[in-house]
Amino acid sequence: MRGLRTILVEQNDLGSGTSSRSSRLIHGGLRYLEQGEFGMVLEANRERRTLRRIAPHLVWPLPFVFPVHRGDRVTRWRLAAGMLLYDALALFRNVRAHRMLGKRGMLEAEPMLRDRGLLGGARYYDAQCDDARLVVATARSAIHQGALVSNYMAVTGLERTAGRVVGAQLEDRLTGERGVIRASVVVNASGPWADQVRRLEDAGAAPLLQPTKGVHVVVDRGRIDHREAVAFTSPIDGRVMFVLPWGDLSYIGTTDTDTLEPPDDLRVTGDDVVYLLRSVNSRFPSARLGVEDVRASWAGLRPLLVDRDKLFTSKRSREHEIVHGSGGMLTLVGGKLTTYRSIAAEVVDQAMRELRHRDGRPRHAEARTDMEPLPGGETADLSQFRDRGLELGIPAVSIEHLLRHYGTEAAGIFNLGGADRRLFRRLVPDHPAIEAEVVHAVRRELAQTVEDVLVRRFHQYYEQLEHGAPSAHRVAELMGEELGWDDGRVDAEAERYLAFVSEGRRAAAI
Ligand SMILES: Cc1cc2nc3c(=O)[nH]c(=O)nc-3n(C[C@H](O)[C@H](O)[C@H](O)COP(=O)(O)OP(=O)(O)OC[C@H]3O[C@@H](n4cnc5c(N)ncnc54)[C@H](O)[C@@H]3O)c2cc1C
Repeated sequence: MRGLRTILVEQNDLGSGTSSRSSRLIHGGLRYLEQGEFGMVLEANRERRTLRRIAPHLVWPLPFVFPVHRGDRVTRWRLAAGMLLYDALALFRNVRAHRMLGKRGMLEAEPMLRDRGLLGGARYYDAQCDDARLVVATARSAIHQGALVSNYMAVTGLERTAGRVVGAQLEDRLTGERGVIRASVVVNASGPWADQVRRLEDAGAAPLLQPTKGVHVVVDRGRIDHREAVAFTSPIDGRVMFVLPWGDLSYIGTTDTDTLEPPDDLRVTGDDVVYLLRSVNSRFPSARLGVEDVRASWAGLRPLLVDRDKLFTSKRSREHEIVHGSGGMLTLVGGKLTTYRSIAAEVVDQAMRELRHRDGRPRHAEARTDMEPLPGGETADLSQFRDRGLELGIPAVSIEHLLRHYGTEAAGIFNLGGADRRLFRRLVPDHPAIEAEVVHAVRRELAQTVEDVLVRRFHQYYEQLEHGAPSAHRVAELMGEELGWDDGRVDAEAERYLAFVSEGRRAAAI
């Protein structure tokens, strides 16, 4: 949008790294208040407003309660002060202002909360998002503005001229093809892989990252029977954690532990699961969650900046930094999903400065990424699309699912099914995704493998009882029709997904 010719390469699927393993919150970050990082909360709250404007289908308001029990690390008065500040740092433009609740009000809001020792708490508002789809939508928006975006394209080395980084060596991980791309500015925005990529520029570069691992587990919502999102302090270690609604499911997170595990091979351990379940059981005693109740789980690495002050893990700053490497590559470290847009703008500002310094090009107008809707986000009023879906005879549950995931782009999916009604069929009876979405995922959303579709485009991996395994073959068939796969390839792609599911079960230790 600023007149640069841009290419983005991603070694796996878009969003397959940390960005699809978050708590799915677009939030100011209550716990950052405790750390006195007010500037960051202010910026995050502003971005929450921006993302709700440009992608209302992917970022929606979420009411929370924050109960306080006797002996909790966060006391009622402290929570009250924090809530006031939180509203102020949202410039009093959050969905609604917070409200403090007494014990009775809190139990009315969340009847299943532990009654004993409950002192009250607060109701406040933040936003929830579909993290993986937000990444894909952002990349697609870049494509609409003329950028080239390629997934399954790894950077394996850097091109240099007189010591300067002037491009990258690429490997297509699906075909094995190799090539080189030249660029005036190279940006390394590879999250927890940042040090690895930086070592391609400077083998002896000191690490910039000191990542921590965060785990979430998914259970049936009915087991906890909570009504809203719940933030609370874990009685085990006093950390703030969440129980978050996701349709009929709830996910619980997160842990925050130092780890040396590589980002490509993160494991959910029994200890992670037990910590999360024990914390929730202490607040919702009738839930009595056990390891056998965990339907799915995910783990991600927080790409945190190296800890210069040797603070505890969860007290470390989430602030980001743009580092200028010895060969001139810009490496971005840190940051949150919530602030991705403003951080990206900052990185491009830096790239523009470098280019201007080098060839004196004129200053280009700012990109209005805060106003330009992401694909599907053109309007939040989807009533006309709902009517169209009903006219076509699509079941109401699938219509709601389509509007929720695709916003205005649901119209395109209706059209696909309009041309071939069979595409309105559900893939499996216990998940609302329909066949037309597979075609859309390939044609519009850069899906290349069954995993791309079932894990990050549809979330069946997390939401469906058998992790989407019963859909695998049909998804491969539909993808094959779009991508020209023969029968052998269709079978192989489906098998690959089934192997991924089995491996995931092993890695998740459940
Ligand atoms: C458990 C957990 C919960 C979180 N919850 C929240 C939350 O609720 N809200 C929030 O705002 N933030 C949250 N965060 C933080 C947020 O998720 C991350 O800060 C953010 O997603 C990082 O994005 P990224 O693009 O820097 O990294 P990634 O999403 O990891 O992207 C980097 C990409 O670079 C690719 N890559 C690496 N090496 C190469 C190479 N050689 N060639 C090509 N591509 C390469 C990787 O495959 C990867 O996909 C959470 C983080 C964790 C771990």
